[in-house]
Amino acid sequence: MIADLHISDQQNLIGGNWKPARDGHTIPVFCPSDGKPFCLLAASSAADIDAAVTTARLEFAEGSWSKLTATARGRLLTNLANEISRNHDRLAEIEAKDTGKPISQAHADIDAATRYCEFYGGAADKLHGEVIPYLDGYQVQAIREPFGVTGHIIPWNYPAQMFGRSVVASLAAGNCIVLKPAEDASLTPLLLAQLAMDVGFPDGALNVVTGTGETAGAALAAHPGIDFISFTGSPETGVHVQAAAAQNHIGCTLELGGKSPQILFEDADIEAAVPAIIRGIIQNGGQTCSAGSRALIQTSVFDTVLEKLAAQIACLTVGPHHEDLDLGPLISQRQKRRVETYMTQSGITPVAIGCISETAPAGGHYVAPTLYGPIEPDLPLAQEEIFGPVLSCLRFTDEEDAIRLANATNYGLVAGVWTADGGRQMRMAKSLRCGQVFINCFGAGVGIELPFGGRGKSGHGREKGFESLREFTQLKTIVQHHG
Ligand code: NAP
Ligand code: MG
Repeated sequence: MIADLHISDQQNLIGGNWKPARDGHTIPVFCPSDGKPFCLLAASSAADIDAAVTTARLEFAEGSWSKLTATARGRLLTNLANEISRNHDRLAEIEAKDTGKPISQAHADIDAATRYCEFYGGAADKLHGEVIPYLDGYQVQAIREPFGVTGHIIPWNYPAQMFGRSVVASLAAGNCIVLKPAEDASLTPLLLAQLAMDVGFPDGALNVVTGTGETAGAALAAHPGIDFISFTGSPETGVHVQAAAAQNHIGCTLELGGKSPQILFEDADIEAAVPAIIRGIIQNGGQTCSAGSRALIQTSVFDTVLEKLAAQIACLTVGPHHEDLDLGPLISQRQKRRVETYMTQSGITPVAIGCISETAPAGGHYVAPTLYGPIEPDLPLAQEEIFGPVLSCLRFTDEEDAIRLANATNYGLVAGVWTADGGRQMRMAKSLRCGQVFINCFGAGVGIELPFGGRGKSGHGREKGFESLREFTQLKTIVQHHG
């Protein structure tokens, strides 16, 4: 049981055994709410990654994992879902302390991790191949096979959810896993892996190696024993990961964030839209790849909407995770500096700023939610992913202008459209350059059934839903001449 687990003892999970990094190095783990260290992680080197990949390869080639039926794999994932539910509160507590997110958000994240296990547990034996009509006297099938060993590099913003989205889907597809979580938030991925061992996943099917991106992450991405990589993080690192994958002639999915627009027309239900637009930027302190960080508002209602947004933002409070306020701290001092630099360098006076709770410890990484507008579309505040609680409002004149502005960044992950006009809803949905469109609603997080991914600088490939099972498998075409 996790309640008995000493998180300070966390080590790498390789071949079913917990081991420190080979050279004994460690990384301190800090709580973003007070900036204090509270446990240690293994700071792994290329040798640890190599040990994990070798173990995963051996398990895939000779172990029991590949011999399990899809139904048996699914049952293990369903059992994992139950085990996560049994340990839900403790996992949420640890997730909140490790990432600084408000405890209710951490509960939602553990729920999502559970749902991923339920969904892919149920889906594992429902991934079918195809029978393809061909010449007379032939039978052709295209069957789906796992790649072998998949490498997973995940970020710090939603570690438990990312474990579900990336690792669980690949396990369901039949692959063996090597996971490198982010050094700023590795605890729940380690604990979820421990639960997987507890419910009977074969040793070697799921390996977790912690450490820095530059050392452990780069070693995993470049390892010739990896057959496919799933990466979520920054566009800059995504370039390195894709280049490393290319050297090994393998594929990858890249989920690289966004600058997603919330597009509000004059005929929208403004009272419903305004709180949803705010939730879309403050969730997880704005450290969400699908955050709605640009509000595009039709000129005729711009002042009214800006006033309502300002009034609500001014009432928001950021504070430590356990107080469960509107927002928690940012993940690190580095992330806080990054967000503050965007704001100070803009030279623009905000329209509204929320509050930092008086109870917030001095060492925490607190940034108050901030509203800007109207902003010119070519400014960094309107173009770049800030990854903090900063909402930039822009004006548009008509539908055509809205589409032009919405598509005028290098990113393309999700979009929200707020309008009562049914024709416009669909015209907008078809014109937006992104992977998901929300109409009169917003929020990618909970929809684990819904294919998700980006275009352009937001990356490529799709995770979530059945699509993920297709991404984590490869087709083999079998042509039989039966005469
Ligand atoms: P990042 O460097 O891309 O980190 C993402 C993951 O990649 C982490 O596990 C990281 O490990 C690892 N990594 C770092 N360098 C690597 C390398 N050379 N080779 C292989 N793996 C490597 O992102 P970040 O620096 O934490 O955040 C920077 C910005 O990226 C944020 O401000 C935000 O704009 C964006 N971001 C987006 C998402 C998203 O969900 N799309 C998530 C996180 C960040 P370590 O963290 O252990 O070094
Ligand atoms: Mg931490």
